[in-house]
Amino acid sequence: MKSRIQLLVQAMQRHPRRFMAGLGALLLGTGVTAVAVAPLAPDAADLPTQQVIETVTPLPVLPAAQAALPARFELFHSDLTRRNDSAQSLLKRLGVRDSDAAAFLGRDPTTRRLLLNGDPGKLVSARTDDKGKLIELKVLWLARSGKEFARLQINQGNKGLRSQLEVGPLERKVRLAGATIRGSLFEATEAARLPDSVAEQLADVFGSEIDFRNDLAAGDRFQVAYETLEADGEILSYGQLLGAEFVNRGQKYQVVWFQQAGGKGAFFSPDGQSLKRAFLASPLPFTRVSSRYGTRFHPISGRQQPHLGVDFSAPTGTAVRSVADGSVTYAGWKSGYGNIVTVQHNDQKSTAYAHLSRIGVRQGQRVGQGDLIGAVGSTGASTGPHLHFEYLVKGQHQDPLILARDGGKQSVPATAKAEFRRVAQAMREQLDAAATVVQASAQ
Ligand SMILES: [Zn+2]
Repeated sequence: MKSRIQLLVQAMQRHPRRFMAGLGALLLGTGVTAVAVAPLAPDAADLPTQQVIETVTPLPVLPAAQAALPARFELFHSDLTRRNDSAQSLLKRLGVRDSDAAAFLGRDPTTRRLLLNGDPGKLVSARTDDKGKLIELKVLWLARSGKEFARLQINQGNKGLRSQLEVGPLERKVRLAGATIRGSLFEATEAARLPDSVAEQLADVFGSEIDFRNDLAAGDRFQVAYETLEADGEILSYGQLLGAEFVNRGQKYQVVWFQQAGGKGAFFSPDGQSLKRAFLASPLPFTRVSSRYGTRFHPISGRQQPHLGVDFSAPTGTAVRSVADGSVTYAGWKSGYGNIVTVQHNDQKSTAYAHLSRIGVRQGQRVGQGDLIGAVGSTGASTGPHLHFEYLVKGQHQDPLILARDGGKQSVPATAKAEFRRVAQAMREQLDAAATVVQASAQ
């Protein structure tokens, strides 16, 4: 018979979300006292009975025989609802053997609508006595707004079972995780049980500094702190990455998420420099420069003439992004440029995006850095699909390839420096705590 620890490990592998709830609580020393072990396999009927348990006092090993258990005890099972669940199939998975309960689930309108015919993937848990009679059934899920949770509870009242539906605010919590890299970043984030949305934020935030595909080394490591939205100690949704540290070939990179009251948050280095540059390096996400700024032999006129922009070769339809915040000063047709969009930024800087197949903005519109403004094409005097991109300062053309470093970085506003230092220091401590656990678990 497998030990409780082995079963827990299996459950962790199959239910990383549940496991993270346990680990996070452990790291932060909060609330949860026992890890609720969900059914261990898709088909719970394949498993020996009694392996899915939760006890108030954790047992080191599962009792081998019925005799070792107290005369009466309660069982706790949890699982996720499935699309085609019937009252019978759901109760069977939850270890409930109770025909009254099955009849109630099939008859009660709230339960039918929300539990059996609602969206699948709701967290459902059942408490039964040792005969399988239902004591309480609880269902938790994220409300459609994403800001609240809903809880459906079915329990014994004076006149038999009754259902009750409640809606409440989600609780924001911070979870810590980390891992040492042995293969790919993806393998490491999986090993750390990092939810996908947080792993993506991690890759994004360090993506311009670290080449995750080609430059990771064995022994690289990371720690993260991220936000969860919870109800009754269960994670229902994941939020913002709040801080991260990545050590790549001995070099340490750190970021802290900082958001002033009422403001838009952003990532900063611990010394208060924004990671977001004022200008993106390129209006296309992945691209190659096919013609640089300067004098060139013009492919259409056949003469030597100045090329006042940079050409990025890319297939027709590739998304074109504004390289910085600004407002659209022109969006339309302009002779040789074909479809062109011009954007005015701060400090008398402006950018132009030409030969577009499609324009996605209109004159006067505000755009943010990275916002879609159109698509690559070959309109106007163009020999093939590419983006002609210009950069002007006070109306004078400049080499667009210097633009990213020209824009410089933004830093925490002077009025928020003290608050930022407090946030950054607290994050430092949390990431150090996460690192200690990663190292301990690696030994
Ligand atoms: Zn050009």
